[in-house]
Amino acid sequence: MNTSTESRRLLIIAPPGSYRLAPYLKAAIRFNLTPLIASTSQHSILPRSVEGIHIDLSQPEQALQTLLELAQRCAQQHKPFAGVLGTDDATVELASEVAARLKLPHNPASATQLTRRKDLARTALQQAGLNIPWHTRIAIADDISLHGELNFPLVIKPLNLSASRGVIRVNNRAELAQAIDKIIPIIQHSEDQTARDFLLIEQYIDGTEIAVEAILHDNKLITLAVFDKPDPLQGPYFEETYYITPSRQKAQILQACEQQILGSCQAIGLTTGPLHAELRIDKHDKPWILEVAARTIGGDCGKSLKPSADFNLEELVISYAINQPLIPEPQTNSSGVLMIPVPKAGILKRTEGLTAAQKIPFITSISIDITPGNEVECLPESSSYLGFIFAEAETPEQTEEALRAAHNELSFVINPVWKIQ
Ligand code: ADP
Repeated sequence: MNTSTESRRLLIIAPPGSYRLAPYLKAAIRFNLTPLIASTSQHSILPRSVEGIHIDLSQPEQALQTLLELAQRCAQQHKPFAGVLGTDDATVELASEVAARLKLPHNPASATQLTRRKDLARTALQQAGLNIPWHTRIAIADDISLHGELNFPLVIKPLNLSASRGVIRVNNRAELAQAIDKIIPIIQHSEDQTARDFLLIEQYIDGTEIAVEAILHDNKLITLAVFDKPDPLQGPYFEETYYITPSRQKAQILQACEQQILGSCQAIGLTTGPLHAELRIDKHDKPWILEVAARTIGGDCGKSLKPSADFNLEELVISYAINQPLIPEPQTNSSGVLMIPVPKAGILKRTEGLTAAQKIPFITSISIDITPGNEVECLPESSSYLGFIFAEAETPEQTEEALRAAHNELSFVINPVWKIQ
């Protein structure tokens, strides 16, 4: 690793409770960069050894000013920012604004803005002739009987949430009306007025789903991994569970997917840094773009990626953010992760079967991230996971089998929540 960056800083902008923060902090240290965290939190999310600054992410203009002033102070103290990272969807736009002003590697803010608004991204992709489902924006205040002929099944979704929150498949008008009622409380606190007033409906694409992790550099796509999602995702809610790489899709199909992703990046205007894309492949082997985001895979799932024997995903991402790009190597073995779904909402009492699950061949680690006594919720309102199971093996079949076997060993005792109204 290069050690010439000793007195430089890495600004990490993270929403409260980001899973991505800890791995980026560790990675920054390996580069001899001093991390500085900007976040919104009533309580400190910072380990004692790390410096941080409180910003109000709901006031992006103010947050931008605060961070630019901070950058100036750091530069005066001869500790300039070497790079700026937005850990999650909610912070990539602000990170690109800060990096642009400091002339550090960044995506245009206009591009990160599009990745944050599903309706605007759809329009850009449609104009570029990419494969996206039929879609339209509907006003919540409208009477749904006014929406002419609708070709069900459809998917209805908020304009600017992530992790499948509020995404619901509907098969008829009655289900559509019910879904809108369910989504309204989920979006009512959005800072974006348009995202409070409108929803996106789009054609439900039947098929198998993949997720692609890549790095964009000089407008080229460097694919790190293609994950199959082997569980059928047919709704009404779309919970993320298994991610297994390498993909078992045919090379020809994966090539077509890559073309769609690259075309999407160009249409949106993304040029650099991490990229996470989700696609569906229909029964005619046609790939459909569902999402393109300027961030890495979410949660703790980055651990299942091995871009090199020498560096991990977060180190790779930082190398591009500070303009010292590392070159990843193709992953030779199989790996996978299960985002352990919440079986029912309630209070987690305890987890059973952990020792047996850890003994399953090819399981590399299991983390249960919810502490007993805490409340857990399910989709569509919340997208939390109980934890993560990781596996590595020679083939994707072995990886998937190991993850399923480990999950079978686990049981979660969840008690109902009694709420006093
Ligand atoms: P988010 O950004 O919240 O993850 P997405 O739009 O990516 O929202 O949708 C989440 C999941 O919902 C997708 O991974 C997919 O499984 C399902 N989904 C979304 N839109 C469609 C669609 N048009 N057809 C079929 N499935 C969809």
